[in-house]
Amino acid sequence: MVKKEQLYEGKAKKVFATDDPQVVIVDYKDDATAFNGEKKGTITGKGVINNQMTNHLMRKLEASGIPTHYVEELSERETAVKKVSIVPLEVIIRNLSAGSFSKRYGVEEGIAFEQPTIEFSYKDDALGDPLINDYHAVALKLATWEEIELIKKYAFAVNDFLKKTLLECGITLVDFKLEFGKLSDGTIVLADEISPDTCRFWDVKTGEKLDKDRFRRDLGNVEGAYQEMSRRLLGK
Ligand code: UDP
Repeated sequence: MVKKEQLYEGKAKKVFATDDPQVVIVDYKDDATAFNGEKKGTITGKGVINNQMTNHLMRKLEASGIPTHYVEELSERETAVKKVSIVPLEVIIRNLSAGSFSKRYGVEEGIAFEQPTIEFSYKDDALGDPLINDYHAVALKLATWEEIELIKKYAFAVNDFLKKTLLECGITLVDFKLEFGKLSDGTIVLADEISPDTCRFWDVKTGEKLDKDRFRRDLGNVEGAYQEMSRRLLGK
């Protein structure tokens, strides 16, 4: 696979073209941002861990029947993925209250829900990724009803798989964000990443936070938390 020109640079990743028009290469950076880009920093080694963790989970999800964009890990920080047009919705699943849910509804963090919840944010930095419901998403033609139903089904299936896999590593999956993409033939696939940048991970026994909240909230030992998640999930 030949790496060609850079197509895009996001907050945490760069995307490059390849000699195959259906495939792009993502290159994970150590840059970290929070609060819609207001807070900036570096988490040394994060790009390597997020790349490897995402790929490990995408391969397992694919094997369990959820279509993903994953093609092949190329190096510590680079992965070939299927080219998609991203559905501009952040899909958030929650098993316990935390973050914006706790803030919005004025409840403590850590309340375990009887059933997981789902919500969508409209991916638009200028608007600050506002909460959006499915009717509004369809009205704005961000996705069709059929696509939204499929995305919900996949998102809950991802949650079932991730929750179980993480529990085996002594981790409570509090909440996470997914993004989906469309292949050129219209097929919906899981895209983007699944990492401590996009999930909340709490140690089952101690409740210690092992995710990007350590960066957002200045809790210290940010690198250590990413490394601990890599040890637990990838054994390295
Ligand atoms: N999340 C994300 N990107 C975003 C917003 C949220 O990956 O732009 C993840 C976040 O890491 C958490 C989950 O989605 O695991 C729910 O986040 P929440 O809505 O509570 O927002 P936050 O408190 O992170 O602002």
